Amino acid sequence: MINFQYARAGDVADAVRQKAADPKAAFVAGGTNLVDLVKAGVERPTRLIDISRLPLTTVEEAAEGGVRIGALVANSDLAYHPLVAQRYPMLASAILAGASAQLRNMASTGGNLLQRTRCYYFYDTATPCNKREPGSGCSALAGLNRAHAILGTSEACVATHPSDMCVALAALDATVHVAGPGGARAIAFSEFHRLPGSTPQRDTNLEPNEIVTAVGLPARGFAANHTYLKIRDRLSYAFALVSVAAALELEGDTIKEARLALGGVAHKPWRDPSAEAALRGRRAGQATFARAAEALLRDAKGLEHNAFKVDLARRAIVRALTQAAAGTPQSQSNKKIA
Ligand SMILES: Cc1cc2nc3c(=O)[nH]c(=O)nc-3n(C[C@H](O)[C@H](O)[C@H](O)COP(=O)(O)OP(=O)(O)OC[C@H]3O[C@@H](n4cnc5c(N)ncnc54)[C@H](O)[C@@H]3O)c2cc1C
Ligand code: SF4
Repeated sequence: MINFQYARAGDVADAVRQKAADPKAAFVAGGTNLVDLVKAGVERPTRLIDISRLPLTTVEEAAEGGVRIGALVANSDLAYHPLVAQRYPMLASAILAGASAQLRNMASTGGNLLQRTRCYYFYDTATPCNKREPGSGCSALAGLNRAHAILGTSEACVATHPSDMCVALAALDATVHVAGPGGARAIAFSEFHRLPGSTPQRDTNLEPNEIVTAVGLPARGFAANHTYLKIRDRLSYAFALVSVAAALELEGDTIKEARLALGGVAHKPWRDPSAEAALRGRRAGQATFARAAEALLRDAKGLEHNAFKVDLARRAIVRALTQAAAGTPQSQSNKKIA
């Protein structure tokens, strides 16, 4: 039995104040991850600060043609919101590839960003885990590591970030808006999640008393040529082994702009400017796509049970780019791409 207090935050400033007053308190939004972690004894907050009723539930047009998404917009509301469905369909696809309809109804935008890894050992309090208990060791390094990372790993941790939504947000160059005791600030999506290094207990660069208030999307949505491809063990209700968010802007057969992000392969959504540079200005076709895949996976390294992910990711990247180029985001294209 874990005792904890429950308090509801009145507004964002109140939420920040309550968190700063108790270093062991935790925000709870939809509760779909945090409650499981508390039940498993992985997280032991002394107080749950319920932020679910804060007025952060709108999706609005923002300056310069972008969109601002409140941190408490439910994942399902976001996926079906007309601004997202029409302008950022890759984000809608990524969200709908995750979890189940019931979970997406509860899960919030902020909670999705801050959900924790699905490494089995992280959830099993009987085993060493540097993320759960710094300095205790990493059971996955020589254990069951089929679902683990192939890029950006460290000796301390080889876990992956489990979100689908975040892979699309990374590709779209989103911004995370946060508020804390020192005021508000914006964090580029690429800087929000961290690699494990020697501090795997820290998933993000959010400071302990900060709250996520919104996610901003720039105007460019890649609505015409995009794909979110998720490869998993079952067709639904499973986390990605490998996922690819691929977005292109084409001028005829030439790639004017490209975005490529991977999920299921690292401690954060994985992007590499050199892979996108390998696409820009080139003809959309298999040879170009294969070069981009090589660049993105240049440093990929398998563990005992997950080496298959390197080849799986390579093929998934080529397939996702092929689908994106053909404008057929959900299925293998019939249109011939040279
Ligand atoms: C069975 C199952 C299958 C799933 N499958 C998938 C999947 O395939 N793909 C996928 O992407 N996800 C999947 N999920 C994860 C799901 O998307 C997340 O649990 C959900 O997005 C978390 O949102 P929440 O609002 O419920 O967060 P909560 O559980 O309330 O919170 C999660 C964490 O975020 C913190 N937090 C929440 N909001 C804020 C905020 N605004 N500011 C600061 N901190 C905050 C909390 O303190 C907590 O640490 C699955 C979950 C389950 C249970
Ligand atoms: S991979 Fe990371 S989360 Fe998993 S056991 Fe190792 S330290 Fe823990």
